[in-house]
Amino acid sequence: EITNINKKYFGSYSSFGIHRDMISDKVRTDAYRQAILENPSLLRGSVVMDVGCGTGILSLFAAQAGAARVISVEASEKMAEVATQIAKDNGLLRNGLPGEDSQCNGVIEVVQGMVEELPNADHIKPHSVDVLLSEWMGYCLLYESMLSSVLFARDRWLKPGGAILPDTATMFVAGFGRGGTSIPFWEDVYGFNMSCIGREVVEDAARVPIVDVIDSCNIVTTTKVLQSFDLATMHPKQMDFTSEVELEPSLDAALNHPAGSKLETTWCYGVVLWFDTGFSERFCTEKPVNLSTSPYGPSTHWSQTILTFREPIAMASKVCSEKLGVVGAVDCPAARIQSRISIVRAAQHRSIDISMELTGIG
Ligand code: SAH
Repeated sequence: EITNINKKYFGSYSSFGIHRDMISDKVRTDAYRQAILENPSLLRGSVVMDVGCGTGILSLFAAQAGAARVISVEASEKMAEVATQIAKDNGLLRNGLPGEDSQCNGVIEVVQGMVEELPNADHIKPHSVDVLLSEWMGYCLLYESMLSSVLFARDRWLKPGGAILPDTATMFVAGFGRGGTSIPFWEDVYGFNMSCIGREVVEDAARVPIVDVIDSCNIVTTTKVLQSFDLATMHPKQMDFTSEVELEPSLDAALNHPAGSKLETTWCYGVVLWFDTGFSERFCTEKPVNLSTSPYGPSTHWSQTILTFREPIAMASKVCSEKLGVVGAVDCPAARIQSRISIVRAAQHRSIDISMELTGIG
């Protein structure tokens, strides 16, 4: 069954559309490009392994940055073939691989296969890689579970103390308000009230997480770290975790109330999850880079992941006196929402189970 799931998974990466979407995500691709090109002392002369090279875009950056050797591993047969052609067409394919003419003398060698298996790669010695490079992140960071392949590659191929790019990943959580749901949309459709649809959509959303864009103006609580990962040291089993989070109404939410409005209750309809990955100063000493999928930043193809409550929760807002034209700060007892969120890899390999439990409101 695992074989079938993998077949389907790598098959999905054989279509060019998905690679176009990833490459066109400028936030994503520029973050990698910057981390690779602007840290020459890390890349220059190094042996790089690109786990899941796809079109080979990151390998091409690594070659451009002066890597001595780039081992580009790709499980999809189609993409491995294409990556080879692309490296060749750009004069960056390495000479002397079986079946290659010697027109090019680049540094990239494409190896087709899962990084866990690396067939025909006897010429690559364990613990010989200086820089392990991969774009493995899925929706809600962990969907697809490709991270375990990267950690496998780290343990088998990376030199002790070698660099892993990116080297940190952090998941965040915050509560969202009514505007983050489709309720307002359905309430006024060319002047007609279609709110019954909005209610049904919200009820459905309470059953499954949804990947969608949340605008930062619809966030009504403080942001908390849900979980952070150190890719240089973590164990694959840490991919499954449970975290407790406590969210308080944000001042911003209060500021978004129209001026002059009464001290209002903020309704929290659910929580939104997103992640950052860091190319931190640990390895990227010249230019650390952060790749963020936050609703407060420019949007990416990952959007955010939305978990909706069965019922919205009323929160007391701290209201900014100035906005209200009131003298003196109005400070209500701050409510908080406590919840327990767990994310575990599903028995069905590559998908994840997300659960959220409300543990306290008060
Ligand atoms: N690095 C490319 C593609 C990223 S998408 C880019 O940044 O644009 C992830 C790629 O990794 C896919 O092409 C997928 O087929 C490949 N992949 C996923 N798991 C893999 C594994 N275990 N071994 C080899 N390739 C893998």
